[in-house]
Amino acid sequence: MRLLWLRNDLRLDDHAGWQRLADHHGETAAVYILPAHWRETDGNGLHRLGAARVAYLQQALADLRERLAPFPLTLLEGDPVDLLLAWHQVQPFELVTHAAQAPEEVNWLARLHDAGVNVQTFEVQPLFSPEQVEPLFSKFPASFTGFRKQVEKAPAWPVPAPQPAVNLGRLQAAACPLTTGIHWREISGEPAHPAWQGGESAAQTWLGHYLFEQKALAHYKASRNDLTGRYFSSHLSAALAWGCLSPRMVWHRILAYEQQWGSDEHSYWLKFELLWREYFHWSLRVHGRRLFLKGGLTGKAVPGAFNAEYWQAWCSASTGWPMIDAGLKELMATGFCSNRLRQNLASCFIHELGLDWRLGARFFEQHLVDFDVASNWGNWAYIAGAGHDPRRGRHFNPHRQWRQYDPKLTHLHQWLPELGPVTLKQVEAHQRGEQLLDYPAPLVPLD
Ligand SMILES: Cc1cc2nc3c(=O)[nH]c(=O)nc-3n(C[C@H](O)[C@H](O)[C@H](O)COP(=O)(O)OP(=O)(O)OC[C@H]3O[C@@H](n4cnc5c(N)ncnc54)[C@H](O)[C@@H]3O)c2cc1C
Repeated sequence: MRLLWLRNDLRLDDHAGWQRLADHHGETAAVYILPAHWRETDGNGLHRLGAARVAYLQQALADLRERLAPFPLTLLEGDPVDLLLAWHQVQPFELVTHAAQAPEEVNWLARLHDAGVNVQTFEVQPLFSPEQVEPLFSKFPASFTGFRKQVEKAPAWPVPAPQPAVNLGRLQAAACPLTTGIHWREISGEPAHPAWQGGESAAQTWLGHYLFEQKALAHYKASRNDLTGRYFSSHLSAALAWGCLSPRMVWHRILAYEQQWGSDEHSYWLKFELLWREYFHWSLRVHGRRLFLKGGLTGKAVPGAFNAEYWQAWCSASTGWPMIDAGLKELMATGFCSNRLRQNLASCFIHELGLDWRLGARFFEQHLVDFDVASNWGNWAYIAGAGHDPRRGRHFNPHRQWRQYDPKLTHLHQWLPELGPVTLKQVEAHQRGEQLLDYPAPLVPLD
């Protein structure tokens, strides 16, 4: 029997795992296992499956089941290794699954291997193949620019073409001997953005709409730092994080767009951002657990402590900085906020409140619909000065940032309507602790 274990690869297109099932002559099965500990709340009140993430996952699995039918997709909840070993005991199988990213996944695969399971891995998450990137492993570029220059140096590394979905019509399905099912909560209402409708079908529709109907890529570089709007950035992150879209497919669709409408700085910049994702992915593979230490990749002391008052204020979006509270409210309500906001939230968390960056990363991990272990922890470490930033961390000045990116306070009015028609100057004065609005005083004056 050959079993495909799906994790962050909830799609049919451009998926080497389905090919491995189609190539097999005996029985086959496919399983998704929700790790039960993702739902457990830790001492800081955090868990790993916020409302937006769970809704996306639930929809993505439902969509995949529909696309696969009549071939079944088994759903389980519990400890992945325990469940797979229990299944293996009743019916031995060869396990095919995508290569590990996070140390947690490395550990799962090692435990399975040590218990005698034949584990075969394939790649579905990166743009480039391991063979392309491997020459960099011994001296992995310390900065994104170093990596990008390697990739773009003539002849530029080609992004392999995505493979079409395979025909699964001839698969012989094996039954799962375990009690199956995942305990979901009811999802109510429509997602706040069409890109957060979970699953491959919705993701493909959104990608086509964004690129070819709306042609929103035509202004990508100019609008990607905005804080509000449906088309300011691609909103592809959730689909990429859960593997509902293949990054290679996205890349080649951008090439198709360029063929049709011409390439320019905007189309280049979306590929540039996908290279950031790629860089963080391979960096995590190379550096592993180090990324999760306080000193991160630097191995040096990085400031940051715990402060219960600040932490509570953060979690209830009541830091007294309206700009930041609005961002936190958006994040907690929708599972998303723009890259610009994420940078400012992280910078305030680390550099104004002096909190441990890893707690902030875990807060994002709970809430982000697009949580991606490499991108999230890589970006937090970068801003904290524990990662790949050659400048040893980024400290943003929200006042300057809002003057540039949201001078009319559109975002703030949307997420903090109770503040009424305040001006940028008034908000800045409040955040500096000078002239207070009818709003909680800032935890720390923002200078
Ligand atoms: C503190 C912090 C935490 C973050 N956590 C995550 C995360 O968990 N998951 C995640 O996908 N992105 C994360 N990002 C990166 C970025 O904010 C999001 O990818 C982006 O906002 C998603 O919106 P979009 O798809 O419209 O992005 P676009 O601007 O349209 O970019 C296209 C794609 O490029 C990739 N990308 C863009 N910017 C980055 C970046 N800085 N790092 C890595 N990949 C990038 C994403 O896959 C994104 O979908 C984080 C950034 C910060 C500052």
